[in-house]
Amino acid sequence: MNAISKPSFGAYNIIDHTYDVVVVGAGGSGLRTTLGMGAAGLKTACITKVFPTRSHTVAAQGGISAALANMGADDWRWHMYDTVKGSDWLGDQDAIEYLCREAVPAIRELEHFGMPFSRTEDGKIYQRPFGGHMQDYGNGEPAMRACAAADRTGHAMLHTLYQQSLKHEVEFFVEYFALDLIMDEEGACRGVMAWCLEDGSMHRFRAQTVVLATGGYGRAYLSCTSAHTCTGDGGGMALRAGLAVQDMEFVQFHPTGIFPAGCLITEGARGEGGYLTNSEGERFMERYAPSAKDLASRDVVSRSMTIEINEGRGVGPNKDHILLHLEHLGADILHERLPGISETARVFAGVDVTKEAIPVLPTVHYNMGGIPTNYHAEVLRPTAENPDAVVPGLMAVGEAACVSVHGANRLGTNSLLDLVVFGRAAGHRAAATIKPGAALPNLPAGAGEASLARFDATRYAKGGTKVAELRDQLQRTMQSHAAVFRNSKSLTEGVNKMEKLWAGMSDMKVQDASLIWNSDLMEALELQNLMGNAVATMVGAEARKESRGAQAHDDFPERDDHEWMKHTVAYVEDDGKVALSYRPVKMQTLTNEVSVFPPKKRVY
Ligand SMILES: Cc1cc2nc3c(=O)[nH]c(=O)nc-3n(C[C@H](O)[C@H](O)[C@H](O)COP(=O)(O)OP(=O)(O)OC[C@H]3O[C@@H](n4cnc5c(N)ncnc54)[C@H](O)[C@@H]3O)c2cc1C
Repeated sequence: MNAISKPSFGAYNIIDHTYDVVVVGAGGSGLRTTLGMGAAGLKTACITKVFPTRSHTVAAQGGISAALANMGADDWRWHMYDTVKGSDWLGDQDAIEYLCREAVPAIRELEHFGMPFSRTEDGKIYQRPFGGHMQDYGNGEPAMRACAAADRTGHAMLHTLYQQSLKHEVEFFVEYFALDLIMDEEGACRGVMAWCLEDGSMHRFRAQTVVLATGGYGRAYLSCTSAHTCTGDGGGMALRAGLAVQDMEFVQFHPTGIFPAGCLITEGARGEGGYLTNSEGERFMERYAPSAKDLASRDVVSRSMTIEINEGRGVGPNKDHILLHLEHLGADILHERLPGISETARVFAGVDVTKEAIPVLPTVHYNMGGIPTNYHAEVLRPTAENPDAVVPGLMAVGEAACVSVHGANRLGTNSLLDLVVFGRAAGHRAAATIKPGAALPNLPAGAGEASLARFDATRYAKGGTKVAELRDQLQRTMQSHAAVFRNSKSLTEGVNKMEKLWAGMSDMKVQDASLIWNSDLMEALELQNLMGNAVATMVGAEARKESRGAQAHDDFPERDDHEWMKHTVAYVEDDGKVALSYRPVKMQTLTNEVSVFPPKKRVY
């Protein structure tokens, strides 16, 4: 295990490890990073709280985008335009250029890694249309751009990446829960603390670079499509280390969560020809998005559905949901292209998709916000003098990060792409900047002590409120105050409630003090992480006086590029107070092969 010393803080014995790189997280982004680091000859450890192939990426359904033009004309510049437009001009155009251009080699690489994509008759990767992806800079037909393995693309991708990473000499620490970053006085990251869930031992990992690949924080909401493990641990760790999170107010609601369970029905279902109707049987998306209709981008479809329900045209005895029709596609297509969701609809809604429509409702799905990085995956510590200042020794990738390529609204299939493109970029950057086996300076005195103190205080928390109760209150607050539509009154109430909830953490009760497989303690630690992400989301949303992408503000219904075309940067103090500042959106490209897309009105 590379143990180099055995210090002990109070009751805890610490096992020390030294690596060139430590990756926290083994979803698509963590595994692509890990394998790139291993391939670059760097001694790499990957720490993960669940077995790698159980990460949320395994649940991704619809596809991964790249302008391969296998099934119709396409161009990475069209993909770039769609992504900028989808982001409602909050995405950084240098990073978006990188994402869309590198998509093509990154997908070819996945193909060569052995990813079992669905195929066209002539053996090419099968591609389907997805919301917001169009031909010819938004002027053409929907683009066939989403590379898919039936409706189990994430499953195929995650298993492929795990197998590939085993080819290199990387070490996995499975069912280890990362607690906190270790920072030095100069503000550089020097390692990470972790708790082994299986035997209760404590570990201090030293590294030249730590990469946070911990996924999103969908579980801050009551109804979401994400796994129970999506608790924003990376954001929590960054905030406790005095670092920022960015653009947290932008939370994506996916139009088609199954009502009421919340499980996802992929947008690929509409890509294959599915459509939505209200209680009058009307295909209402034709009114809201005359050209893209049911394939308008997610924020637009989710808002349209919510308006239909609010105006009394919802379906069911309580008029509280919408119907998604796939029956007309026929059993053969459904069996071949959408087998997974056919099963999900049967299990969770009792619906046979070949005969009946599926009840659906917008459900929290993705966090556009996260730890700010540049397109090399290096974490930023923005200051007024230098909005692009880099934190030495720290990278972030995947849903935990905010590069920002998704801006105010992510297009479907651009997240799986983000994972592999920026996981790959992190490997390239590390190969260029890190010397394998270089000696590490000594750790700062008492490194990790603060983390253990927090751990210990949580372990013996003897307050009056159970973790599950506090989490339930948090989820209900987020669900009703940081919702699809927001307004100043409700957001102000939300901020007040969040302050109380934060204070409520001091009254938390952890019933089980053991160190082995203690899910109560783990959930308490996860709740602390959720809180940091959630409070930044609520305060950022209250402050942003405009509507853009996923932030739909009733009192400020227009986008305001003059005041608000800027990224929100949020720091959270120990007492839960949020300090906001802003940094400019990057309105430049990386090369002269494409020019900047200036803001314009976003219609589909
Ligand atoms: C149901 C569903 C369907 C989707 N479909 C698509 C799609 O078709 N196309 C698309 O582009 N996007 C899709 N998305 C979005 C996309 O799948 C996710 O954004 C993406 O998979 C996130 O990957 P990740 O690597 O960032 O994190 P995850 O896959 O969530 O992995 C996080 C990793 O971090 C580890 N971790 C977290 N905290 C800790 C800690 N404290 N200590 C140690 N380890 C930790 C976990 O063990 C895990 O390995 C979908 C999302 C959902 C929920």
